[in-house]
Amino acid sequence: MKFFSARFIIVAAAIATWESAMAQTTIPLVDIKAVDPTIVVELRYTGVNNCSGHALYPPRTTALVRPEVAPRLAAAQAFLRRYQYQLKIWDAYRPTSVQLRLWQLTHKTNYIADPGAGPGSMHSWGIAVDATLTDASNNAVNMPSDFDDFTPAAMLHYQGIDPAVRTHLHLLQRAMAGAGFLGQRTEWWHFTVADWQKYLSPEEVKRAAQAFETRWQAKL
Ligand SMILES: [Zn+2]
Repeated sequence: MKFFSARFIIVAAAIATWESAMAQTTIPLVDIKAVDPTIVVELRYTGVNNCSGHALYPPRTTALVRPEVAPRLAAAQAFLRRYQYQLKIWDAYRPTSVQLRLWQLTHKTNYIADPGAGPGSMHSWGIAVDATLTDASNNAVNMPSDFDDFTPAAMLHYQGIDPAVRTHLHLLQRAMAGAGFLGQRTEWWHFTVADWQKYLSPEEVKRAAQAFETRWQAKL
């Protein structure tokens, strides 16, 4: 019972945080599933199976992106379905308040953008997603690492020797590059729209460009 109460409080706090974040955002957002219901969505921050060990989103949170981004994900999905694979979304829009919580819980300075420095995370602008592949029956397929695996295995360019993993990663990267996304050097699952500058103010673009040049942006 105690466990239930504690869990209830945590979920209630996540809902309150999310609702106040959604009330504050001025970014136009759409539900990825409303644009393409075939895209698989499993937001890892709705549960504890993520690098923070905490549920940061309320249960049944929808995967949101800017309206211009959703059709690109649909294009990547159409490409993948030709090969009997599907796109699975691990994270999409992430409110700044959640980014702050993630930063406080993990302090992974090389991986998690500090919301207090620079433009923060591209997730908080609705222009980045974390994505992987499933097979045609929604089963997970072998990829270089799990989500939020902050080890060398998560590098954009696969260093391992498993030909199936290499094929899967290249297919995902071809799908996302063809749909207009860039990769991130240290996280194979992270994709930002290639024209991200369009969605930030000039000042934010300047600060983001500095960060991109040093550790973020990578052509697929
Ligand atoms: Zn990401």
